Order: sequence, then C-alpha cells, then structure tokens
Amino acid sequence: MRFSRSLIPTIKEAPADATNVSHVLLTRGGFIRRVGAGMYDYLPLGLRVLKKIEAIVRTEMDRAGALEILMPALLPAEYFKETDRWTKFGDNLFRLKDRKGADFHLGPTHEEIVTDIARREIRSYRDLPKNLYQVQSKFRDEPRPRGGLLRCREFVMKDAYSFDSTEDGAKASYEEMRKAYVRVFDRLGLNYRMVAADSGAMGGSTSAEFQVLADSGEDAIVACDACSYAANVEVATVTPADEPAGTSGERTKVHTPGHGGIADVAAFLKVETKQMLKSLIYRAQKEVAMVVVRGDHDVNEIRLARILGVDEVALATEADVRKTTGAAVGYAGPVGFTGRVIVDRAASLVKSGVTGANETDHHLTGVEHGRDFEGEVADVRLASNGDTCPSCGKGKLTTYKGIEAGHIFILGTHYSAKMNATFLDETQKKQPIIMGCYGIGVSRLVATTIEQHNDASGMRWPMSIAPYHVHLCTLGKDEPVLAAAQALYDALWSKGIEVLWDERDERPGVKFKDADLIGIPFRVTFGGKNFAAGNVEMKARDESDPAKSEMVAIADAQARIEDFVRKALA
Ligand SMILES: [Zn+2]
Repeated sequence: MRFSRSLIPTIKEAPADATNVSHVLLTRGGFIRRVGAGMYDYLPLGLRVLKKIEAIVRTEMDRAGALEILMPALLPAEYFKETDRWTKFGDNLFRLKDRKGADFHLGPTHEEIVTDIARREIRSYRDLPKNLYQVQSKFRDEPRPRGGLLRCREFVMKDAYSFDSTEDGAKASYEEMRKAYVRVFDRLGLNYRMVAADSGAMGGSTSAEFQVLADSGEDAIVACDACSYAANVEVATVTPADEPAGTSGERTKVHTPGHGGIADVAAFLKVETKQMLKSLIYRAQKEVAMVVVRGDHDVNEIRLARILGVDEVALATEADVRKTTGAAVGYAGPVGFTGRVIVDRAASLVKSGVTGANETDHHLTGVEHGRDFEGEVADVRLASNGDTCPSCGKGKLTTYKGIEAGHIFILGTHYSAKMNATFLDETQKKQPIIMGCYGIGVSRLVATTIEQHNDASGMRWPMSIAPYHVHLCTLGKDEPVLAAAQALYDALWSKGIEVLWDERDERPGVKFKDADLIGIPFRVTFGGKNFAAGNVEMKARDESDPAKSEMVAIADAQARIEDFVRKALA
C-alpha cells in the first residue's frame, strides 16, 4: 500500500479524554476514531490489526476442533427471560422494541442463544462433544466506557461454547481450550499470566483468566516467584498471618484533628500502617456491617459478600457512616460499635492497634481484639505483596496489574438445566448437557498489545499482528530511487510480505516520526547518500538506538528483509 493512497491520518495531539497510552497512540497513529462514548471507527491500519488477531484466534480455535458459527447480534428477549438474565443484566443490556412493541436486546454474550441451538440439534450422547464459536460484535451499556478500545460499549469478541455428556468430557474440552488460548497469547507476542479467577455473574465453577501484564491494568493479580501459582487477588487464598503483631498497650484516646486517612494518621501518630485497624462500614442489602482489616491490607469484597450471605456489598454512604458511628468518614472504629463486626484474621492478631474512636478528629491507640472489642474472625482481606504462596508454601507472592484479555469457564449445567437442553445417555435417560464457555476480547487485544508494546515515540507492534510487516520509506523523488523502491516493493508483496510504502512528498523527519508512531516492526529507507553508495538503511522498530540501523547493499535487501520477517513470524 502506498501511504499517499491510504487513509492514515496521523495527528500530534492526544484526544482530550484519553487516559491510556493505547488510546492516545491508536488515535494519534490514525488507527481508530471515536464515534461516540465507547464506540470507534477502525480506520485501515486499525482494521488490519483487528483482522490479524481474529485470524490467529480462528486458526487456533479450528485447530482445537471448534466449529465457527454466527449468531445474531439482535436478539428477542425470550431467551434471556428463560434464564432470568433479562432482569439480571440490568442497565448493562441495550434494550429495544420492534415495530410491534416486542422486547429485543443487543447480545452482550450468547450462552442462551447457543444453548438453544444445542437443545434443538443435539439428541444423543453420540452427538457430543461439540464446541461452537463465533467472532462477533457484542454490546454492553458500560456505565463508564474508557481507555479507547479497552472498555467499549460495542466490541468484538470471540466466544466459544463446549457441550459434553460427561464431567470428564467437559474437563477435557476445557483443557483443549486452555491449550488453544496459550497458543493464541503466545502467538500474539504478549507477556501474560493464566490466573485462577472468580466466575462472577456468569455462573459455574472452574475458571481461569488470561491477564496481560500492564501497569494500566484494572485487575490486580498475584503470582508466586517460586511456582506457577497465579490468581486474581479476589480469589487468591490468603495464608494465615504468622508475624508477631506487637505487644499489648493501654487503650488511650488521642486527638487527631483533620487526620482521617490511614497513611495520614499513621504518619501523624508515628506508627506503621500495619498497626492501624482500618474500619470500614459496608452496606449489604438492609444490613450495615463493619469490617476491620490491617491498615496495609484491603478488604476482599467478594469474600465479605459471601460471609454476609449476599450477592454484593458496597461501601456505606457518608450519611450511613455518620448515622452508625456518630463521626465523620475516617474516624470509625470497632470499640463500642454496636452493629455486626467482621475482623480479618491478621487484624485480630494486632496488639496495641490504632483505630477510629467513632468521634470526629479522634482515634484510639492500644486497641486489641478480644479485649477492647469483639468481632467474627474471618479471612476477609485481599492477598498482598509479600504474602507466602498458598500453593507451594515457600515462595512469596508478587502483585501485578493486568488487563483481562481472555476467560475460560466450565459452566456445568447452569444454562442447559434452565433451558432444558438435554441428550439421551447410553441407557436412553435424559441428561442435561454439560457446558463450558470461552471468551477472548478481540478488539480489546488491539489496545492491550499497545499498553504493553510502546515507547516514547509510538507503538511497537509484534510482527504477528502488525498492520504491515515492512515500512518502506523513500526520500525525495529521484527516478532511480523510486524505481529501485518499486522493484523491491513488488518483489516483497509477491513473496507474501506486506509493505507500506511512504512515497509522500514530505521531509525525512516527518516520515520517520510517522513510522515510529505507527510502529510497523521493520523500516527500510531508500535515498540520499546511502542510495548513492548502493545501500539502503534498515532498522527494527524495537531498536530505540538510532546507531543500531544497518546498511545493506541494495542487491541484498530483499533477502535480508525476508529473513527478518520470517524469523519474527516463526
Ligand atoms: Zn508458590
């Protein structure tokens, strides 16, 4: 493709609403343009990347024995009503009515629709196993679309669904998908971890997330430095605290005017944050409860919800805090608190703790569980940096930020039982089909790749999904230069190597800046003194040192480029 004929509208300024590096660079590089909140155009370069990711995903799904289908994005409400998700999805579902007033929605995921295929088409255990997948646009009315392609309201997903007649078969299908996912993420050139995960609202038991490591990630994961254990902090097993937690002291009320935050109070009173008894008020449906964790720990809200026997919990409002503690936010504490108190195991071991006095501008020091207050002891904190690994018991856990790019589950009979999707077993008995589901956020991966592969000058695409393999630059309009470049361009395309040729009438500086921004992995430059000496300049995008470019005789250029691209794709 000739640059002047393509549509690559590079710009200098970042979009005003961009907070993520991928959002900035994909917009500046002319890959995407915003149409509305969480909705984007894919311009030619962006679409080429998206299609390449799709192609890798398709190849690995096909290789794993999955069958591609396509279900509608526009769906009648009846299927989600069968499983109650018409209600459960709440405001996240894009709902609409047809001309007759019937309820419809745009598909956020397709378990019900694919289960309907299964109940119509599968009769006997002989029809199983099956795995059906699609690559399709999904719709979710996100409350806060953000990060460009990271969290959209319309996005492209690959969703696969397995159907089995036995538990062992379902596990084998899951394992087959797990291996396929490892191949996909390896081929994409991403640094990722497969982590144990909570299955959330989807229902089901066995599940794992594929988390791409990036500082901008919203998910916190922990991984062991000694074994392969990795988990989302929300589900990571917390090892019991074994540290000595100080010696007992006398309970004293102290004046802490204007010091409400943990770090703030700890600094003011000159104590370590792990001596602080952080006391948070949560609302769980009608109940209000206090949770006490060490100042250096965070509450695991999923565990807390389970302990309180509800689906989800939320921090109480400021008004609720005032009403239950009689003090401003930041001064709550368990001493004298009359409501339900849950104490994390590590916090229960703290002697001489510091906590709010339930009186604005006052704290208590020398506080101890069992002596100064009572509460139910439970593991209710998130795993944290430096915890002992719960799997091997030797290594230490390190926390990472990750972006969830894939998720695999065994669903069991959650959907098939509700929707009566059954098969006849060998004794002619009806059994619900055992299902699994497997998602990859294809359009999110465009952004996720850049969150991990960028530098100050722009994007750095892995060869496997780069919009083109080679960025050919010609400097000036001299006929011999253009003729030599044209010959190389034609020869490379004929070998299946994709070349973007920047033949624009622009200064070299402009061309090189655009080349670095767009981030095609290999740049080849024709022109100037080098050309007069019979050479072209070659430079890999990941070599930030300009001295790393190499001069290659024009006659050897094609072989050198082919070698570089083939090796990078291998
Ligand atoms: Zn370990």
